[in-house]
Amino acid sequence: MLNVVLFGPPGAGKGTQSEKIIEKFELTHLSTGDLFRKHLGEGTDLGKLAKKYMDEGHLVPDQVVISMVEDKINNTSGSKGFIFDGFPRTTAQAEALDKMLKNHGMAISGMIALDVPHDVLKERIKERGKTSNRADDQNEEKINTRIKVYLDETLPVAKYYEEQGKFKKINGVGEIEEIFNQISVVIDSY
Ligand code: AMP
Repeated sequence: MLNVVLFGPPGAGKGTQSEKIIEKFELTHLSTGDLFRKHLGEGTDLGKLAKKYMDEGHLVPDQVVISMVEDKINNTSGSKGFIFDGFPRTTAQAEALDKMLKNHGMAISGMIALDVPHDVLKERIKERGKTSNRADDQNEEKINTRIKVYLDETLPVAKYYEEQGKFKKINGVGEIEEIFNQISVVIDSY
């Protein structure tokens, strides 16, 4: 089983690279942002609850996210493993993920972090906002909030995996294919 955490700030290219990774390594994509957007689109209670946090660029409470991920893991069978995209975003989520995987006889193989300077992130998110229809991609203040939340609440997750010798940083600026090649080398080493 290969279980990879793809890590990085908003706009780092996690979604783009995830698509390529799932195709090559036949992994199941688990993007909490995508799952929340699906609930939002379907108007479920979970979607309504998540919306107020998402629209402001804040994190949805841990227990809500953890239950949603647990549900997805429990309802996936016959997979070669997962690529976690946008999750875990807090140390509490990382600890909960370890427990969930352990219950299924699995563990995280490693975390791959995409490193992108903040000015490049802001430009990418604004560009994506022109077509993404995402409320949280649309204005400078919300984008700044998301980057701040990343620095304050999510960055400690990198340390969590680093302490376990499971952390690898990759330059996230450049050609999509070149970045993907570097990611592939890391995954092949697991
Ligand atoms: P993303 O598509 O990963 O940028 O996620 C969009 C928004 O969904 C975030 O800004 C949060 O409001 C929410 N979200 C996604 N994943 C998580 C998570 N792991 N923990 C808390 N909130 C999340």
